[in-house]
Amino acid sequence: MNNHIMYIIIHHTERNNDFPAFVRFRHRHLRGWDDVGYHYLIGNKRPFTKDGHLYVGRQEKCVGAHALGYNNRSLGVCLIGNISNTNPSSKQLQTLVSLLREKTKQYQIPVQHILGHCELPNVEKSCPGDYLDMVSIRQAVTGQIELSALLAMSCDKFVPSLCTE
Ligand SMILES: [Zn+2]
Repeated sequence: MNNHIMYIIIHHTERNNDFPAFVRFRHRHLRGWDDVGYHYLIGNKRPFTKDGHLYVGRQEKCVGAHALGYNNRSLGVCLIGNISNTNPSSKQLQTLVSLLREKTKQYQIPVQHILGHCELPNVEKSCPGDYLDMVSIRQAVTGQIELSALLAMSCDKFVPSLCTE
């Protein structure tokens, strides 16, 4: 049972043309897990998902499979896409921030416990991708920076051609 949720860990799927059913398929059939490892997935701009749509993965009460050593006390949230070569869409960021606000409140999780996968000790991969600025995400969750500032930052800094909203 995932009954003591203290962390929220953010991931990306590392594939731009990806969709939740395919992630679930890979986790179940290639890795042999019961279900998709993440509790939530957030769609991107590509044709296979709805941009910014929140897809429910594994139920929150079930322990996820996404972050070694943290699975039994965290929620796993995954952005669809490869955020190492594409910036997250504005809608993805909006959905992510509102989900994080809701869940930190619901489970009384301190904002410092919202972590990118690579921020965990001994994780060498770049997940959730170089273009997801976790510091700004945390600041947007607390309201230290405006959501609009986060969105503008993401567009200016990274791949402007992909920011059409
Ligand atoms: Zn990850």
